[in-house]
Amino acid sequence: MNLVIDGRWIYYPLSGEVINNGRIVIEGKKIIYSGPRGKESDQKAGHEYYNFEKGLIIPGLINAHTHIPMTLQRGISENKPLQTWLQHIWSIEPNLLPEDAYWGTMLGIAEMLASGTVGFNDQYFYSDQIARAIHETGIKAVLAPSIFFAGNPEADSMEEAFKHAKNVHDKWNGDNDRLFVAFGPHAPYTVGKEWFQTIANEVRDRGTTIHTHLNETEYEVNESQKTHSLRPVEWMDRIGVLDTINSAAHCVHLSKAEIDLLNKYRVNVLHCPKSNAKIGTGIADTPRLLKENINVCLATDGQASNNKLDMFEEMSFEALIHKAVYKDPTVVTSTEVVRMATCNAQALFPKNSYSGTLLKNTPADLTVLDLDSPGTTPVIDPVSHLCYAIGREQVVMTIIDGSIVYQNGKFLTLDITKVKNEAQRVTNRLLETTSSD
Ligand SMILES: [Zn+2]
Repeated sequence: MNLVIDGRWIYYPLSGEVINNGRIVIEGKKIIYSGPRGKESDQKAGHEYYNFEKGLIIPGLINAHTHIPMTLQRGISENKPLQTWLQHIWSIEPNLLPEDAYWGTMLGIAEMLASGTVGFNDQYFYSDQIARAIHETGIKAVLAPSIFFAGNPEADSMEEAFKHAKNVHDKWNGDNDRLFVAFGPHAPYTVGKEWFQTIANEVRDRGTTIHTHLNETEYEVNESQKTHSLRPVEWMDRIGVLDTINSAAHCVHLSKAEIDLLNKYRVNVLHCPKSNAKIGTGIADTPRLLKENINVCLATDGQASNNKLDMFEEMSFEALIHKAVYKDPTVVTSTEVVRMATCNAQALFPKNSYSGTLLKNTPADLTVLDLDSPGTTPVIDPVSHLCYAIGREQVVMTIIDGSIVYQNGKFLTLDITKVKNEAQRVTNRLLETTSSD
């Protein structure tokens, strides 16, 4: 479908520029014009036309670290430190059935589409079911099947989990040019040296990458030092796998030497400030990482530790928390924060499959917000509003690869009533089969 979208404002996070009375023209999956209305102002024949008089157009957002079927476990385990929390979660997950993961994913995707999120970078079990939901709903994703077996209902051994990941890569990588498969060894404390090296070799052969968790807690760092006499990132370097890690979630506790290693191998840090705050693990020092030229992408983490898939709330939290920690309001700007949720995430996807810039000849992934509300009036600076005033309920349109997938509360690629009912049904069953703490 070809579209013309007019907005009162368009925000380009790469340059930090906002233009007034802008227009985006989409043909097929691509943006073919992006800029002010003017000589391009004649509505093109055969293009569907939308005019948002108080609309702010931004690039579609990317959630850089999720465990998407955990939507079903929203609110299930609260007020626990990470290791205790993980033990609880790993006691629930063996009861998950493949269909449960499908409905949990559909619910998570619905929440994301309604929140202006056009893609996610996931690590979990039941990748076949997650992939099916991605295929059906039109969202973009990089899916890394989790390779470890604590709580894994699909695999009793590393061999089985690894074999499964290879099958998922064979079957789904490149699906519709919007679903890509990476490999997900869970973390250095759950996956040993030989397995990490085996997975890294496979990843190099297949031309894909690793998505893992690194340096999330002080406990993890201390244990690594006790076991290997090295911190986790140093350990990944020592065993020769750091070059294959594209996605490193958390990175809350890093030494200078580890930051240098992440820089050397261009590892992208997936920053989950709300999840880290909720589990009480600390806050990654993103102002410092940005200064050190590390690419930082913003994420919610799974819903059991957030409990939302709301990138607007995540941007707001990120824009505030470092100012509080540093006692300095200059340490991070709104533009830097919005980049973490948009164009910085380019590095997580294969070339030309996501841009996050709204520039001409890039994939047509965009989100429109209606600023005609008491809480966003007056509009003095739309970029300030993005971090401090806008809520996800102001999303009125989400477009992925040129297709409208969400518009004014309506989901165009899924049956939301059915999705909510099925998700509640499988959660009720999970609660019946699992103890509450
Ligand atoms: Zn995680």
